[in-house]
Amino acid sequence: MSILLGLLSLIASIAIPILIMVFTNYELISLGIFFVIPAGAIAIGYVCGFGLFKGLILSSKRITAKHFVIVMLMALISFTSIKYITYSLTCINTETGEIEYSMDGDHVSNYEVPGYGSMTFLNYSKLMIESTPISFSYKSRSMGEVDNPTVSWVFAIINFIGVFIGAVAAGIGFKDKHQYCESCNNYKKSKKIFKILKTDGQSFFEELEMLTNDVSDSTSLKQIVEKYGKVKLGNAFFEGTLIYCNNCRKSTLSVKLFEVSSTNKIHENDEFEYNVNLNFNIAREYIKEDVA
Ligand SMILES: [Zn+2]
Repeated sequence: MSILLGLLSLIASIAIPILIMVFTNYELISLGIFFVIPAGAIAIGYVCGFGLFKGLILSSKRITAKHFVIVMLMALISFTSIKYITYSLTCINTETGEIEYSMDGDHVSNYEVPGYGSMTFLNYSKLMIESTPISFSYKSRSMGEVDNPTVSWVFAIINFIGVFIGAVAAGIGFKDKHQYCESCNNYKKSKKIFKILKTDGQSFFEELEMLTNDVSDSTSLKQIVEKYGKVKLGNAFFEGTLIYCNNCRKSTLSVKLFEVSSTNKIHENDEFEYNVNLNFNIAREYIKEDVA
């Protein structure tokens, strides 16, 4: 499963930028934001790594360091293939002298450039790095020619690294989102079960504590949650996620705090952390459909 999905996303990471280039003449891989963030390369790396990690999750295989090495190799293959296929399709329009991408034009290898020699893949890549205008999405301005070859090489290296960053980020993202149950060799499941206003937090956590300490066995978690009103937009809130393993019947309640900034954007407050082991019988009312 992970091999199949890994190959599919490797192919996608090569095909998508090539198709974009053929149809729009735009090189996704050199898209940068704020001059230094290689957004295009990171996106390509992310797509490249996505399938492998998704496959590992789906087949309940643990993500290990080995997989990060594999995904870096895949990113290298993806990067090289994109560059090589781009080169293979690079032709010169005989009337305008400009570059166009086509299967049957006058291929760039028929040309020589003073100082670079005949346009082999390596010579052409060097020329492209040292003379391509780098486009920036920031305010959709183009910076025009970058004349300084050193600066151009720095950009090229940042771009190259971007592909790896994207691929590794895909793995870290999946690893963070899916907890692994060591005793069952399986991924735990998770389910968001409530949102509660921050202002209701204190009384909610008091009741929750009573429940988890088994002081009161007459109420259920659901009853406590339902006591509090719905969270309206624009208010800070707590979000509770149940993380559980059906097999060994262990469950944890993880609560996160989301605050609203002055510009009305919701963001997680990283300083707040609340995790409590929950008796599986309490958790069960939320996961009935999964447990026989
Ligand atoms: Zn387990």
